[in-house]
Amino acid sequence: MIQRCDVAIVGLGPAGASAAIAAAQGGARVIALDRRREAGFPVQCAEFVPAMMGMDAGPVTSAQVQPILAMESFVENAHDRHTPDFRGKMIDRGAFDRQLVEQAMAAGADCRFGMQVAVDRGDGALVAPDGARFVADVVIGADGPNSPLGAAIGCVNRELVETRQVTVPLLAPQDSTDIYLSTRIPGGYAWLFPKGDVANVGLGVGREWRELLKPELEALLAMLVEQGKIADKRLGHTGGAIPVGGPVGVAGRIGGVQVLLAGDAAGLANPVTGAGIPAACISGKMAGEAAARIVAGDRDALADYYDDIEDLFGASLRRAVARRRELLAQWRDGTAEAADLRRGWIAYPQYWTDTKQVAPMAQRENGNELLEA
Ligand SMILES: Cc1cc2nc3c(=O)[nH]c(=O)nc-3n(C[C@H](O)[C@H](O)[C@H](O)COP(=O)(O)OP(=O)(O)OC[C@H]3O[C@@H](n4cnc5c(N)ncnc54)[C@H](O)[C@@H]3O)c2cc1C
Repeated sequence: MIQRCDVAIVGLGPAGASAAIAAAQGGARVIALDRRREAGFPVQCAEFVPAMMGMDAGPVTSAQVQPILAMESFVENAHDRHTPDFRGKMIDRGAFDRQLVEQAMAAGADCRFGMQVAVDRGDGALVAPDGARFVADVVIGADGPNSPLGAAIGCVNRELVETRQVTVPLLAPQDSTDIYLSTRIPGGYAWLFPKGDVANVGLGVGREWRELLKPELEALLAMLVEQGKIADKRLGHTGGAIPVGGPVGVAGRIGGVQVLLAGDAAGLANPVTGAGIPAACISGKMAGEAAARIVAGDRDALADYYDDIEDLFGASLRRAVARRRELLAQWRDGTAEAADLRRGWIAYPQYWTDTKQVAPMAQRENGNELLEA
């Protein structure tokens, strides 16, 4: 009942699969476990991947459904700003996740589905419901926003946005993402993302306002039907949580086991836009590389991992956390207005010009966590 490997990975979403590819290519014996029955299903995503360095090839391209060229921002339902050259791709997220898992298997990782595991907080083993124990030198928590691995090392996403989304027929082709900002959507925003002849229409709100999800989505859909943008038909629905509090830490230890976190588990989704696919893929790859180096005895691998995460994501996440918290305070005391919504959204210069930010992330004394100082 005990299965040993060098690197065990919990989660085979974009972060876990990217980690599995990198760790296996780095020479480690990898076992990766996911509670889902199959890769990429069910899809809990609006399927837009913003253009980002290192994200323009491979599965992102082969899973592309259509390109996105621009962003249109609406404030209180009135068109307010056209942002040209806001590029990215609408993808088939199920196909994207499946391709990453196929690459991980081709690299030699042992990927298993239908495996919900718990963490033994005594020795860091991963325990399956049938009692099987997976024992590794390094465990990567790529287990999403409510990460059990993160909880076990004290790195918890405490700020979450809840979402609700439907897929509907789109009545005319569109090459922009539509963003709806409103004081009626506290702690988040609504979207219409075109995907060929359909669109993903949804919204996210701070968890404390989640009872608004249903009525506000219905109101948005009714408006879009009225405007002739979409047909009054639901082809699918989804939802889920997005971490929006910024980085919670990327590493810790359980007994003799080194734990690394990646993707949503580490709080790397953008707290303002909710985009987490690029950060999941990039941080997963870095975590997999670091894990293989740790197994090979490289003492700098852990420090390099959090330095790389800080260098790549630190500044943009800190700005997003600061903007979101300012706006949250205004939502909570009922003073949020259109100008505040603009300042809190990436399409507006005000978002970028104010330099007041939350303090930089710092290493803890034991050198293995990223925290807000
Ligand atoms: C409605 C919605 C829309 C979104 N739209 C976008 C978008 O358009 N663009 C974008 O960039 N981002 C979007 N995001 C965010 C994006 O989906 C996430 O940031 C991304 O999936 C994070 O990848 P991940 O691998 O870190 O985590 P996940 O994709 O959540 O993968 C975690 C995996 O861990 C598994 N797992 C968890 N616990 C266990 C356990 N105990 N045992 C075994 N397996 C376990 C889960 O089954 C899951 O497969 C959206 C999120 C939501 C909810």
